[in-house]
Amino acid sequence: MSYFTRHKAEFSTLLDVNTPIIYIQDHDFVRVDEFICECTQGTEKKEWNPATGVTNYNTKEPFPSYDSLKDFLKLCFLDNKARNKYIILKNVHDCINDPEIKTYLHLIAQRRLYGEGYDTTIIIVSPKIVVPQELEKYVAYFEFDYPDDDALNEIIDVHIDVNKYDKEKFSPDDRKELLQSLKGMSRFEVDRVIDMAMSKDGSLSANDKDMILKQKKKMVKNSGLLELIDTSEDMNSIGGLSALKTYLQSKAKVIDNLVKAQADNVAIPKGVFIVGMPGCGKSLCAKVASSMFKVPLLRLDMGSMLGKYVGDSESNLRRAIKIAEAAAPCILWIDEIEKGFSGVGGNNDVMTRMFGYFLSWLQDKKSAVYVIATANNADSLPPELKRKGRFDEIFCVKLPDKEERKEIFKVHLNKRKADVKESDDELLNITDGFNGADIEAVVCEAKEKAFLLSLNKESYDFMKILKEIAKETISISKSCKKQINDMDKIFKENCFKNASKK
Ligand code: ATP
Repeated sequence: MSYFTRHKAEFSTLLDVNTPIIYIQDHDFVRVDEFICECTQGTEKKEWNPATGVTNYNTKEPFPSYDSLKDFLKLCFLDNKARNKYIILKNVHDCINDPEIKTYLHLIAQRRLYGEGYDTTIIIVSPKIVVPQELEKYVAYFEFDYPDDDALNEIIDVHIDVNKYDKEKFSPDDRKELLQSLKGMSRFEVDRVIDMAMSKDGSLSANDKDMILKQKKKMVKNSGLLELIDTSEDMNSIGGLSALKTYLQSKAKVIDNLVKAQADNVAIPKGVFIVGMPGCGKSLCAKVASSMFKVPLLRLDMGSMLGKYVGDSESNLRRAIKIAEAAAPCILWIDEIEKGFSGVGGNNDVMTRMFGYFLSWLQDKKSAVYVIATANNADSLPPELKRKGRFDEIFCVKLPDKEERKEIFKVHLNKRKADVKESDDELLNITDGFNGADIEAVVCEAKEKAFLLSLNKESYDFMKILKEIAKETISISKSCKKQINDMDKIFKENCFKNASKK
């Protein structure tokens, strides 16, 4: 079933079962108008919006006889010839909580359900969902899905002039990549980005995928929920954490052979929960996983999702998950998950509902969205999240031991093209209690010092500089001694798998 037919069928079902109020969350009024007209052909439709008041929905001609939304709704409620009529209310989210307005909507909804010969359906179209509690049970929500592979292929086909097209420039692999770059955007965004690509040279080509990805990054960021992370980190960027690296490698193989794996009844990997001390490579692992899996990395910041718009948090989470599912295969990295869910079970209803939604999504997930959740504080998290069956595995990352510090030094000395390639025993002993971030900072500072000395044409011993700086550095285990000890205790109590040991 095509993208449009599927949506039309879903919408028609809502109409067939006499839904009194249909709420469409969308900002693209033109597309929604086209869709509603297509689904409700030959019926009487009136629109109200705060700017133009009441208009004929098809012609947009105003009806000056209605003074206000209240008057309009009152007349709609009292209308005794209301057969097969539709009232489309746009952008009513700011006034829907007015006592008279919600009462009229309530009355119309009830008359629609129980009144003989009264057949008026209300369709609310708004970018924001605001539904007063009194109306909740009369409302059905309708949303346009993000275009799937078939829909995107249709869109691409429409834009490519197959006859003129130079096939060499657009191989099946190019099409796959172009399609991948368009995934995770709404239909509106896909059209906009394709228009931009077409405006350059009048056609859509494989060369446009970089521009599309750039635009997608901006769009994803503008959603205020997710960020598409660009990363150059790979396996060689991590020192230590061998058990976690091996684990991620095995999941990467499954994701890479997903069709075969499913045919062989292998479960789609759900995700991994990485909890651990700050600066020890949790975020780094999420980035490396993206290059291992060869899929995009979408970062969801729990802190900012709850930030200013607490009331919207629940729908924000739903929307973020929807974007990730549309972008699949991808990694959804939930950073600082403890910020989102640490208050679950208390008085915070929004958080508890969000958590419930997240858990059931994770449990039933069929899409190739691999979730990597990272957290410092695992103690405040609800036990349901830590139970097996939610994530495939929970790893804890701790301060690196001597052997791991050696590997981490190697990574950063190589990255900075330092004069020495490896740490020595003395340096490793000095850096006992350092995390990866501390080690990186030591290498960076040493590199800068060496650079300044070379500018002054002074000679230097890089290893000596490293040791001097390391001795002066207040490592994480000194600055946060108590927190580190507490975390260690919590990891032991929870029996989390150690990310370092094979
Ligand atoms: P936080 O909890 O504070 O967000 P984190 O555990 O996510 O910390 P990262 O952001 O992954 O820490 O690490 C910070 C930086 O420290 C990384 O960019 C990396 O350069 C360095 N680093 C940390 N751990 C390692 C490691 N095991 N190997 C190489 N570099 C590391």
